[in-house]
Amino acid sequence: MELKIIRSRRRRRTVSARIIKDTLLISAPAMLSQERLDRIVADFKIKFERKKIKEDLDRKQSLGDIARKINEQYFENKLKVNSIEYATDQESKYGCCNYSSGRIRISHKVGLMPDWVRDYVVIHEMAHLIEPNHSAGFWEIISRYKLAERARGYLMAAGLDREAQE
Ligand SMILES: [Zn+2]
Repeated sequence: MELKIIRSRRRRRTVSARIIKDTLLISAPAMLSQERLDRIVADFKIKFERKKIKEDLDRKQSLGDIARKINEQYFENKLKVNSIEYATDQESKYGCCNYSSGRIRISHKVGLMPDWVRDYVVIHEMAHLIEPNHSAGFWEIISRYKLAERARGYLMAAGLDREAQE
């Protein structure tokens, strides 16, 4: 991504950023120190890169479509998923499910893993719509997916071994 910084004497405090084509355009106060600006720019870059990853993933493999398929295949179409989306703010967590709102979030890192691992995480979070806790009943549901154990090993090796609480 190209970077263009415009320093403005009229700006007092705020730094703003936007993307124009492939350029990250930063407007910053003239008085802001280079060190502080570098840090802010680095944060903006991460934010925009994550947003782009998320958009690419949504385009290539919509989680809504995947959840529909899994609902049919593993849950007799009985689950009600209110929303399912990629999240880019979950560092070591593979996903989370809000039992009461039916809202599921899946780490974008899972979206970059093999399909069978991603499917496991989606099944795992969807199963929480039936069983909020990791009870024996929960793992019984999970065992419908033949690659569950392998997928858990894969996630653990990748350092994605936790689940977010919501
Ligand atoms: Zn879980």
